[in-house]
Amino acid sequence: MAQIPRGTRDFIPEEMQKRRYLQQRMEATFRGYGYGEIQTPTFETLELFTAKSGASIIDELYNFTDKGGRELALRPELTAPVIRCYIERLQMAPKPLKVFYFGNCFRYDRPQKGRYREFWQAGCELIGTDTPEAHAELVALAYTILKNIGLQNIVLNIGNLHVINAMFEKLRITDAVKKDVLPFIDKSQYEDLFSALRANDISQQDAEAFLEILQTPDLDKIMAYVHGQAQAEAELARLRGILELLKTSFGIADPRVKIGIVRGLDYYKGLVFEIEAPVLGAEKQLCGGGDYELVSLFGGTPVPQAGFAIGCDRALLALETEQFTFPQPSLDVFIVPVTETTIPLALSVASQLRARGLTVDLDLLRRGIGKSLKYARRSMRVSL
Ligand code: AMP
Repeated sequence: MAQIPRGTRDFIPEEMQKRRYLQQRMEATFRGYGYGEIQTPTFETLELFTAKSGASIIDELYNFTDKGGRELALRPELTAPVIRCYIERLQMAPKPLKVFYFGNCFRYDRPQKGRYREFWQAGCELIGTDTPEAHAELVALAYTILKNIGLQNIVLNIGNLHVINAMFEKLRITDAVKKDVLPFIDKSQYEDLFSALRANDISQQDAEAFLEILQTPDLDKIMAYVHGQAQAEAELARLRGILELLKTSFGIADPRVKIGIVRGLDYYKGLVFEIEAPVLGAEKQLCGGGDYELVSLFGGTPVPQAGFAIGCDRALLALETEQFTFPQPSLDVFIVPVTETTIPLALSVASQLRARGLTVDLDLLRRGIGKSLKYARRSMRVSL
């Protein structure tokens, strides 16, 4: 008997009900922020993803050669496809362009709770503006989506890649060493990071100070650390402005600065942010995003770009873990034909009520009133 492929899942009606609830709430919030929906193909040329992330991405992909000899890949994410579509069809659209998407993504990950080989992302791209208010609105949108689906406990962390790069420069850390230590920073493995810095001739005092700045939420301390590095100072001032807007204009009380956000992807530039659900433990990251540069890499006219992606499966897991009560569908009417001769009439009444927009079901098993009522009770979610 054939089995479901590893890392994939079927979703039975009660699970789909929750997933649709999530999608509908998310969509309403995207639309409330002026975004329009976009859809791209499930597979793309392999080159689209290798151009963005290098050949090593192939190990993480489902890729194949089609019957015409084309090298293709199931999409591992949707930013690259959306930017490809932007270059092909939307470059002339009025700016800023705001597009959102829902889509399944495929990664050759090692499956575990919250990590699948086929999973769903909801995300958006904001093209044509990089003002602080545009970035503040983008971060606020991600946060608000997760709040609007009903999550109680989420943590928003914001960083800036120019700042962390300035920190590397200050310690004269070479690109090669940077490559070695970035994964430790990404995974907050500070002991390993400390050892790696020490192994690369960084003094104990410098390594300790570096680690402290990576972990502190105190902007003044970070500012003092990068003092004299003009771009980092300007970016920190900008970050301060964004945090202020998040608090005062969007009512987000607790955004946290985390300079140690590096994101796995190479194409991010300045602003980076992540939202996590601490209830999820190891796979707690729900959302990642920021300010990036792909349009020019793919041959389009340079333009500011930013966006984020939310993992829908994890958002749902977080809601379930928080014991969220999902809205349940229920029938308006259940009809029980009490004799066989009333069956045609029952069918016709059901049709007329459905035509008026009611949800209607009826006994199709000729099983009598007692059993029918029992069945109806379950479908109508009422006590009869
Ligand atoms: P990324 O494109 O890697 O930044 O991922 C964005 C979000 O998608 C993450 O924050 C996760 O919530 C979710 N995600 C990434 N990979 C997986 C996976 N293999 N299974 C489930 N969710 C994932």
